[in-house]
Amino acid sequence: AGRYGDATAAARGYIKYKDPKAAVEERVEDLLTRMTLPEKLGQMCQVDRFNFSYPNPSIGQEIFTKYMIGIVLSNPYDTGANIAKRVELANTMQKLSLSTRLGIPLLYAIDAVHGHNTFINATIFPHNIGLGATRDPELVKKIGAITALEVRATGIAQAFAPCVAVCRDPRWGRCYESYSEDPKLVNLMTESIMDGLQGNAPYVADFKTKLAGCAKHFVGDGGTIDGINENNTVVDNATLFNVHMPPFELAVKKGIASIMASYSSLNGVKMHANRAMLTDYLKDTLKFQGFVISDWLGIDKITTPPRANYTYSIEASINAGIDMVMVPWEYKEFLEKLTNLVNGGYIPMSRIDDAVRRVLRVKFSLGLFENPFAEGSSLAAEFGSEAHREVAREAVRKSMVLLKNGKTDNDKIVPLPKKVKKIVVAGAHANNMGWQCGGFTLTWQGFNGTGENISRNKAMNLPTGKTRGTTILEGIMKTVDATTEVVYVEEPNQNTAKLHADAAYTIVVVGEAPYAESQGDSTTLNMAAPGPDTISHTCASGMKCVVVLVTGRPLMIEAYIDFIDAVAVAWLPGTEGQGVADVLFGDHPFTGTLPRTWMKSVVQLPMNVGDSAYDPLFPFGFGITN
Ligand code: BGC
Repeated sequence: AGRYGDATAAARGYIKYKDPKAAVEERVEDLLTRMTLPEKLGQMCQVDRFNFSYPNPSIGQEIFTKYMIGIVLSNPYDTGANIAKRVELANTMQKLSLSTRLGIPLLYAIDAVHGHNTFINATIFPHNIGLGATRDPELVKKIGAITALEVRATGIAQAFAPCVAVCRDPRWGRCYESYSEDPKLVNLMTESIMDGLQGNAPYVADFKTKLAGCAKHFVGDGGTIDGINENNTVVDNATLFNVHMPPFELAVKKGIASIMASYSSLNGVKMHANRAMLTDYLKDTLKFQGFVISDWLGIDKITTPPRANYTYSIEASINAGIDMVMVPWEYKEFLEKLTNLVNGGYIPMSRIDDAVRRVLRVKFSLGLFENPFAEGSSLAAEFGSEAHREVAREAVRKSMVLLKNGKTDNDKIVPLPKKVKKIVVAGAHANNMGWQCGGFTLTWQGFNGTGENISRNKAMNLPTGKTRGTTILEGIMKTVDATTEVVYVEEPNQNTAKLHADAAYTIVVVGEAPYAESQGDSTTLNMAAPGPDTISHTCASGMKCVVVLVTGRPLMIEAYIDFIDAVAVAWLPGTEGQGVADVLFGDHPFTGTLPRTWMKSVVQLPMNVGDSAYDPLFPFGFGITN
């Protein structure tokens, strides 16, 4: 008590939500009571950051100042290489958000699914399927931590990761985003990557070095019929809760900041409108405290065709429990329709308050109110550093799975001798940075790392941009003895075997070309052309050969397996192709084992470990170690 008596908090101008010492829940409630309807609805809206034209902020700045949107995302085509500029962009947007009446900070999010994959020169790790093959939780934790640092270095505080899908059918175009077909292995990886990405505190506390995570895609995305992306997942309760749900339960227990709804349906009900799963199960039963985010245009796809009735889509999805809508372009229409639905009583205010509470809870927990601005400069040295690349290289080594070594036990060919007169490296995948990185790298669909010669990439208008790293061929050249002649034949023909009959051995690198999501759905699981010809003009023509598969999933190889001397799977290793050479030449042992079943034929699919009729070419967990 002072001379003038006890001043009330209000009289002192005390604003609880601005008090960092107040409890997060109290700050959330205090702020919520101050918010108008437009301020609330803005927090539920997520837009593509390209709505804002930078560096000409006069275009699109209304998304921050007038519409007060809660999150922006950079999609994987926003590939800036200049770190300082990216931090400046993030801070410019933040400044605009903070200039509003309540000054609610903006959250900036990105797909960082195998490293900071949108950015040129970031460290790109193997895709999740490769991490599953390492079965190394400590390594995966390090990868999460490095990813978080590199993302933070560019001024971004949330990653749409991890993907915790349990892919039950490799025909699915997103199989490589899944750690395994086995929920136990997915859980092990989920636990580790979350420790690295988000840290131990729920919804994130470490503003400088950790990210808000997003477990995706809830739930059953990896169990759709025939592995068709965004299809219906038809499962009984045992399969739902024992196969697809465990990683989400774990992520919730560990305090994941957000969870993304799946485009797919569950037993006929679109997940974006699935109240029983989003609200009754995820929020009420599991007690998830973070926010449920829609996928890109996810609510639009509740109807067939998409956006047939957008008002209905908004109503159904918000009432089902979606808290944050990835709009990502037509925000005016979205906000206008959402406003009408609330004013008309079709969406109760309690539902809106619940959604906003969840978004604010994450923002407070992230420390965004106290530390809204990115500190790019202090982290710039972390971005794509040698130390980070070394961890990626270790991950590549440990992800490599050796399926066959020698036609008999007595003629093992791996590890390959480094000092021979001559070796041949064959196949376009050997020297293509884009192909070894796969989808979700620089662009959504991945990129063509070396040029214009691949017609598919050309047809799809994929960029040919470069990013730092080592191709598999470069790794091989650095590893062999200086006196060994290395001949690279990108596309072998009938003459190749005759011409290079004197080579000690051939390393044939074949597999898949990059793809993302539905683009990757396959009914055949054949390797991309000219892979089969590459094999027939080398291995099948009598050359001693090791086949290295650059692939996001098991491919059909039974027809070739007998005349190949050795087969190693590199998955989609990312930028550090040197790791492939490290194990091929024996500098490090093969330790990776299959994170999924390798089928003989697609007619066997779906086929997963534990199935009663289990007759694979190579079983789950297989891998020759040396
Ligand atoms: C994908 C999500 C991704 C989102 C944002 C969607 O197409 O399904 O996994 O996070 O795009 O890029």
